[in-house]
Amino acid sequence: MSREAGDRPANVTPRQPECARCGSCTVVCPVYRVTGRESATARGKLHLLGTGLAEAPSALYQDIFARCLLCGACEAVCPRDLPILALTTRARSRFPAFYGRHGLRKVLARKALASPGLLQGLVRLGVGLRQINALPADSGLRLKLGLLEQRPGAARSAEPADSPARPAGESVAGPLYFTGCLARYLQPSVAGATAKLARHATGGDLHAPPGQRCCGLAAWAAGRPDEARQLARQNIAAFAGTTGPIITSCASCSSHLETYPDLFADDPGWREKARSFRARVREFSSFFLEKTENLKFAAQETARLFYHDPCHLRFTGEGREAPRRLLDLVADCRRFEPDDGPHCCGQGGLFHLGYPDLADQIFATACESALATGPDIVVTTCSGCLMQWQTGLAARHAPVRAVHLAVFMASCLVPDSGERSRFFSF
Ligand code: SF4
Ligand code: SF4
Repeated sequence: MSREAGDRPANVTPRQPECARCGSCTVVCPVYRVTGRESATARGKLHLLGTGLAEAPSALYQDIFARCLLCGACEAVCPRDLPILALTTRARSRFPAFYGRHGLRKVLARKALASPGLLQGLVRLGVGLRQINALPADSGLRLKLGLLEQRPGAARSAEPADSPARPAGESVAGPLYFTGCLARYLQPSVAGATAKLARHATGGDLHAPPGQRCCGLAAWAAGRPDEARQLARQNIAAFAGTTGPIITSCASCSSHLETYPDLFADDPGWREKARSFRARVREFSSFFLEKTENLKFAAQETARLFYHDPCHLRFTGEGREAPRRLLDLVADCRRFEPDDGPHCCGQGGLFHLGYPDLADQIFATACESALATGPDIVVTTCSGCLMQWQTGLAARHAPVRAVHLAVFMASCLVPDSGERSRFFSF
């Protein structure tokens, strides 16, 4: 196996143990489950990393490494604790820009996520396209455009500016919000719901410091650590001068924000800043579970609910438990679990853009398993998973809604004063 120093030396060291070829990672790999290909597994990829093929990766080699969701299921079961995700992204870092299927599409999506103005422009274009109704009803693009929410009021500037400008040197205390791309641009109701919950829980406003960018997970997953580091620096700087906990309503964002110190292995200054930043990051469910004394929830009507575990939460005890414990606070809500355990939804960040058919095959398993429990509603707390469920359910004409956990919990607040945060106008 190739053992070069990686970008995440906390995980990738020259003395990693070798793959035992035990096959534990095979049975849990969602890509292997639908393709039956050994090359899709961690074991297969680790074998390839140790061959001469790694020196001059062919298009086929690149395609094999691109066909990975980075879901983490393999890492969670690996008896040797191999840093499979870091090794996979390191392999990708040696590939040309447009590797794997639909390489151009993936690069454009990554660039849009990293450029607020571009992303905002694309969302406006998408909303406009949807309004002229020019696409066939069963078009995949039309289903995706259906996910976009139109922001009320005047057009916003390209620079996110949810908090008012503050005098230089003034510190902001209280809960802060790392908004994330979905809640900021695509589905602002998620940000509105999070702000509403925070207001009820803490009695104060939720501040979203300006200057925030994409968390950088897409860049890191694509094997572009420089891009990921640049976004991390911008985000850390955006929260400088603030002191409160940093809430994220996206499981993928929160998991990536927690890895920021690993991005700065060779830069002690930024590594220390990243550590301080990470210490303040709070995943949505865990944060609100500690603030329930002022929160009472009841479903508007008796609801059968299915909770989808985002891969970025389901491999830690707290990540699995906290969203369920929060949901179980809602009176008149019955939560169901599938018989065959949680499944990956197939979205995988930009994976679904490169391999839409494969992503849909993986989704089909998760969807069947969920629908077998007879839910009225599917709830999840990851922006990528949410979009996958919304488009997948719509494509299947399933009479089931998929909503973000924040939106569901805010809709169940008792009493619902309808009061809105000063800093959000959704
Ligand atoms: S679980 Fe770990 S040790 Fe076992 S085959 Fe997979 S990568 Fe190798
Ligand atoms: S990260 Fe997920 S998709 Fe990739 S090899 Fe591991 S189990 Fe398979």
